[in-house]
Amino acid sequence: MMKKIPVFLLTLSCFSLFGQTNWQTYFEQSGGKKTPRYPETVTYCLQLAGASPKIHYTTFGVSPQGRDLPLLIIDRDGLTTPEAIKATGRIILLVEACIHPGESEGKDAGLMLARDLIAPPLDPLPRKEEGRGKKEEEKGEREEDQRIGYSAPASENKIENRQSKIENLLDHVSLLFIPIFNVDGHERFGPYNRINQNGPEEMGWRVTATNLNLNRDFLKADAPEMKAWLTMYNRWDPDFFIDIHTTDGADYQYVLTYMMETRGNMDAGLTTWCDSVFLPVWTDEMELAGYPVFPYIEFRRWHDPKSGLIRDVAPPMLSQGYVALRNRPGLLVETHMLKPYKQRVEATYHCLISTLGILNDQWHQLKTLCADADAFVQSESFRSQPFPLLFDLSRTDSVMVGFRGVEYEAVYSELTGGLWYQYSDSPVTFPVPLFEKVEPVKTVTLPEAYIIPVEWKEVIDRAAWHGISMIRLPRDSAIRVTSYRFSNPRWQTNPYEGRHPLTRVVSDTFSEVRIFPAGSVIIPVGQPSARVIAHLLEPNGNGSLLFWGFFDPVFEQKEYSEFYVMEPMAKKMLDEDPLLREEFETKMASDSTFATSQWQIMNWFLERSPYGDKRRMVYPVGRINN
Ligand SMILES: [Zn+2]
Repeated sequence: MMKKIPVFLLTLSCFSLFGQTNWQTYFEQSGGKKTPRYPETVTYCLQLAGASPKIHYTTFGVSPQGRDLPLLIIDRDGLTTPEAIKATGRIILLVEACIHPGESEGKDAGLMLARDLIAPPLDPLPRKEEGRGKKEEEKGEREEDQRIGYSAPASENKIENRQSKIENLLDHVSLLFIPIFNVDGHERFGPYNRINQNGPEEMGWRVTATNLNLNRDFLKADAPEMKAWLTMYNRWDPDFFIDIHTTDGADYQYVLTYMMETRGNMDAGLTTWCDSVFLPVWTDEMELAGYPVFPYIEFRRWHDPKSGLIRDVAPPMLSQGYVALRNRPGLLVETHMLKPYKQRVEATYHCLISTLGILNDQWHQLKTLCADADAFVQSESFRSQPFPLLFDLSRTDSVMVGFRGVEYEAVYSELTGGLWYQYSDSPVTFPVPLFEKVEPVKTVTLPEAYIIPVEWKEVIDRAAWHGISMIRLPRDSAIRVTSYRFSNPRWQTNPYEGRHPLTRVVSDTFSEVRIFPAGSVIIPVGQPSARVIAHLLEPNGNGSLLFWGFFDPVFEQKEYSEFYVMEPMAKKMLDEDPLLREEFETKMASDSTFATSQWQIMNWFLERSPYGDKRRMVYPVGRINN
């Protein structure tokens, strides 16, 4: 099921592109109501590539159903490799759309931007003069034109300047654009894929053909699409990343909300740059364009903004959380599902133009900060600091902020007996507490290196896919390591992303000399991916390979004693070891479940006998220190 575009069609398209009409994207031709399917998207990309040497169409992998994963490379000199582009000094911006294909704004905005970067815009997108769109009417029809709310300030509009000088935006930045990441999910196309969403008329489905959510897969990389993405990312090493989504949740005025990892899980220099340079300029420019932005938030009470806003740290399974671990800023944008599709795409277009413009101004600072961040994680001082694996959000420490919401009321449901929130079309700015104070709650001191035994191939493969450098042991070697020993593991009952995550485990450490077979890999922490290494291999994070179940077999007991063997052996053990007797009697007195389980008692003695499995519950990955 390879989706190839015939060459003759491409040639015809290239000729027609120079006519007036075909410059319009599918979205524009539909009046902002429709989004193209995969073949139309690829055809338009090929048309652009055929029309300008600045745009190169390529692919970065093949989906399980056989579709190529499309990638546009947009460079002012028509360069097509990371080596050639980096040699010019330009930085690289990666824009990703349709990781959740039902949320297709990024595809349509990105295709318009790619077109405008090689030719003057057809009609510069107007700044939005009025606010949010009216919600769905009772008949079920979507209103596209009524807008209420705030007005853009009448001062100079930097975004319009950026748009009018669009060809200059590529002076110091080259753009990688993935119009559709989840290509198989995208082609599960229909009108009923996003129940809460106001257009387009039809759209793709959230997850892959095997029902995996790619935006939970950045660390465990179970989907072939993610393996391809990581290979592409390692090769290009982009300096800035944008991932484009549509939200669900409560109603409010903002057309676009965003997430950036500036909460302690990214390099300090990059965090300062995001907080004090990028976000203030970008926020101003979006406001001037008529699209005031706000951090992506959840609510203390679901759907009830006045209950308080919650802004947490993204785990590394999410896109912008992952690139933060790679020492690169990631901007995740969420347009608001109740706004008309056309408005959402235009807001996304402005977001892309603004970001490109800021990066074009800031390219040197960003490039220097990325290099500094890569260097810092390779230093002794990085490893001497406690590394945060998990953060906790304070639910008591808040600041008051003005939130541009809408009037709403809680309505009693006769159907369910519960309350639901009915939003009106009346905009209102109200003060609400914002809970965003986070503290690391699980930290670890990183070792000099980790070692993964050769037999854990799936784990070694994952490390390689993340671009992590490793050294293979040429022969069997005795190496002193610190090992984790686990107890009391608990797993999630229902599957999550095709796995049953380990929700709780107690861990302790001990030092030992272990024989590691030839082919085992040593992974030095001192490399640019240090943060990814820590999250993959430290067991107690919320995205570690242990959490995802890659090491589940080590928790299993594989040998059992028969009672007729264990009974006399246990009595002999008690007679010969008074300390053991004391431990046993304490256990019997304090643990009633244990005291009434013949199986548990016999197993307790087996574990303490020479026949007990000394490797059970020991983490196969070792930590190597000086
Ligand atoms: Zn999404």
